[in-house]
Amino acid sequence: MFLYARAAMTATSSAGTARRDDTGHRRAANRAVAVSAAGLALTGAIELAIALVTGSVALLGDAIHNLSDVSTSAVVFLGFWVSRKAATRAYPYGYERAEDLAGLGVALVIWASAAFAGYQSFEKLVHHTPTTSIGLGMAAAVLGMIGNQAVSAYKRRIGRRISSLTLLADARHSWLDAIASLGALTGLALVAAGLPWGDPVAGFAITLFICHVGYEVTSEIVHHLMDGVEPEHLAAAEHAATAVDGVHAAIARGRWTGRTLLLDIEAHLDPGLVLADAGHLTRHIDEAVQLAVPAAGQVHSHAHPGRSSR
Ligand SMILES: [Zn+2]
Repeated sequence: MFLYARAAMTATSSAGTARRDDTGHRRAANRAVAVSAAGLALTGAIELAIALVTGSVALLGDAIHNLSDVSTSAVVFLGFWVSRKAATRAYPYGYERAEDLAGLGVALVIWASAAFAGYQSFEKLVHHTPTTSIGLGMAAAVLGMIGNQAVSAYKRRIGRRISSLTLLADARHSWLDAIASLGALTGLALVAAGLPWGDPVAGFAITLFICHVGYEVTSEIVHHLMDGVEPEHLAAAEHAATAVDGVHAAIARGRWTGRTLLLDIEAHLDPGLVLADAGHLTRHIDEAVQLAVPAAGQVHSHAHPGRSSR
């Protein structure tokens, strides 16, 4: 849901065939992701500064969490730019895997920040380090809630308008993230009420949120690096290929390189059809599959003449 679902919104297709013209929607989705990232970056930066002033580890964790979310958006946009670079002789399949590499780097940074936030919370709990300017800290936590809620409402509005499930899921994520900020606020309120352990305990809870981001990003990247693919894309491709006149059966395989889904279709032609028919049939199959699987950047079909089918 983090990297590649958003990547799908920015994806451009090499297909020249007529397909749903959703360029406007894609642009709206990209703008929503970019504006949200900027808003969250500002929120996180202010929280981070106030965390350093107040010594609140809960606020520190919340700031790190928000900045982690921003970094996943940054990877998507980085990948978008890098993947536009034309293929060369040395990299004949293009530069799209750069996004996986960047994602791997971001995952490492997120795990390191989770460890850092957890360690700071532990240190504070053990050494009873004081929290100062609690009012200011609470204001920063409220800012974190407002920032996430505002971003969530914005993404939900755009998501509904362009009916983007990804954006709506993103909106839900930001809505839940406001709870992390509420956790920081609660911790600081406990400190104000004379319970100094409130802040480090909230810090631990928020560390779990950071771990969650790290887990999501890592599992998506591992899935991509293992050439994992969503089975529904294959099913849709096989269905579309089999529906082409003259195709008896079809088997699809596919993998992602960065944001491009590459599909290979093995089509078995109806008995009686010969290899001479295969040329224009594979073109039809390519087009049908492109239409059925909008995520597919490239489709390569191979036709086997009827006699060899099954
Ligand atoms: Zn988050």
